[in-house]
Amino acid sequence: MRALVKRRAGPGLELDEVPRPTIGINDVLIRVHKTGICGTDLHIESWDPWAARTIQPPLIIGHEFVGHVADVGSNVSDFHPGDLVSGEGHVVCGRCRHCLAGRRHLCANTIGLGVGRDGAFAEYVALPMANVWHHWPGIDEEVAAIFDPFGNAVHTALAFPVLGEDVLVSGAGPIGLMATAVVRHAGARKVVVSEPNAYRRALAERMGATLVMDPRDRTFADVMPELGMVEGFDVALERSGNPTALRSAISSMAHGGAIAILGIPTQEISIDVNEIVFKMLTLRGIYGREMFETWYKMTVMLQSGLDIRPAITHRFSFLEHRAAFAAARSGDSGKVIMDWTT
Ligand code: NAD
Ligand code: ZN
Repeated sequence: MRALVKRRAGPGLELDEVPRPTIGINDVLIRVHKTGICGTDLHIESWDPWAARTIQPPLIIGHEFVGHVADVGSNVSDFHPGDLVSGEGHVVCGRCRHCLAGRRHLCANTIGLGVGRDGAFAEYVALPMANVWHHWPGIDEEVAAIFDPFGNAVHTALAFPVLGEDVLVSGAGPIGLMATAVVRHAGARKVVVSEPNAYRRALAERMGATLVMDPRDRTFADVMPELGMVEGFDVALERSGNPTALRSAISSMAHGGAIAILGIPTQEISIDVNEIVFKMLTLRGIYGREMFETWYKMTVMLQSGLDIRPAITHRFSFLEHRAAFAAARSGDSGKVIMDWTT
């Protein structure tokens, strides 16, 4: 089969002919249809310091995908050849305290698809059956392909109640864009999106933001009176990893507000803990998706009218992987999809 492989330590990826994965008795083999490119894939492609200390080549990268079941192990009874599926990319140990209690997203021994084991940028991918998610027939396959980052967006957006609340979103990358649509769907009153990139600000408007702002031109305090807001934001979703963005979110919160932090900073961030104490704020880190409550929520929100399709902006064949990666890296894009069937 063909696959995008990190062959050796250093920048670049190669589209190689490699053996199809073999499956164990509890595994599912999936013929990949479409994949999404994530920031993680860009880090691995460019071989930044995180990739250099994390990735052991050779490795097939990629973890956002949809495809159909091609084969199943002898112990697998609820997946059948032809079923349309995606996969949860966090493969957990199953034996630790949290796994045994059903809190698999808290497993400390998680191995990432396309990071610690061969991934989905390939014609076939194998996963344990406990990581495979059935889609309903007729789901838009591009949407199904990005259930992994959509799940990051939903996990963060629903970390705190948003019904009737004023929500701040910093960073309108693909995940911030999808989260904007999710909090609107979940009943937020005002949703303010802060994003320096003009292309992404325009997308945030399409996703339902009440107001979009460039953090280089305006502060949250500037826009609050315009929206009739008096006390500050009730909920903030930090999706940029940027130190200034986190600090401005903290100082724009109402008393008792809550901040869900998904953005991954490249350096330590210093914050004023006085603000957290005296405003009695809650800060919560969000990693991955809850297995499988987040997947259930994604499914039912789509079925009840949530539309995340405007966040998908570019489509390529896997043969054009260089152009696809360039589009994802440019910043002037939402989600970039690669098709593995054409
Ligand atoms: P992205 O890098 O495409 O988006 C980040 C956005 O933040 C960019 O559009 C950037 O212009 C914007 N930004 C930069 N400085 C800003 C500022 N001061 N204020 C507001 N916005 C600012 O990333 P993405 O794919 O949308 O992911 C969002 C973040 O979540 C990234 O940091 C990513 O590494 C992280 N992430 C975390 C998890 C997890 O499980 N915790 C999973 C996937 C991605
Ligand atoms: Zn575990």
